[in-house]
Amino acid sequence: PGDPLNVVAVECRRSPDALRLGVVPGLPDAAYESDGQLTKRYVRAATLAALAPAPGELLWDIGGGSGSIAVEWLRAHPSCRAVTIEKHPVRAERITRNADRLGVPGLRVVTGAAPVALAGLPTPDAVFIGGGLTAPGLLDAGWEALPPGGRLVANTVTLESEALLTDWYRRHGGELVRLAVAQAVPVGGFTGWRQAMPVTQWSVTK
Ligand code: SAH
Repeated sequence: PGDPLNVVAVECRRSPDALRLGVVPGLPDAAYESDGQLTKRYVRAATLAALAPAPGELLWDIGGGSGSIAVEWLRAHPSCRAVTIEKHPVRAERITRNADRLGVPGLRVVTGAAPVALAGLPTPDAVFIGGGLTAPGLLDAGWEALPPGGRLVANTVTLESEALLTDWYRRHGGELVRLAVAQAVPVGGFTGWRQAMPVTQWSVTK
């Protein structure tokens, strides 16, 4: 009041809560719209490392959830291609929104249940299975679709699917790892570890 100059100061800087998205996999979980069906950041980074996208390659992301694996595969290189297969229509629509918002509108989303929904898809260079491992014939279908040299990566948190992955690991080799991430959280006035469910990951080159 009483200032004759009416000076307006304009500050140009990133708002403190704007998300900064780096170029390597392991985007913050908050980058995704999700109903909780999301491969969390640190496991996601390890998953993309195992999938090892290269220019021009095609990924099948079976059990797309929120689409994070396919999105980060596509962010690896503009020529990468991906199709995600998700049986829940509401999630399939969410995947499309995440892909559009995160700059990879070329993600192809198939709404349907694998293995049936895999019929007719172009031959993949890599297959990721993030859901539906216990569906009869699903793992076989993913494996059959891969050409020699193709990569298959499967994640699970259930003992039933882990038993399946153990069986395939014994027959085909590759790497079976357990990723157990804990995050520091407030405990009273102190800080303690909150342990996420361990994720069993099998990765193999055919
Ligand atoms: N990797 C995902 C999370 C996967 S959650 C992400 O980061 O977003 C597992 C998903 O698999 C769920 O959305 C579930 O609906 C889906 N799913 C389970 N069985 C399936 C099947 N047989 N075919 C297609 N999708 C399936």
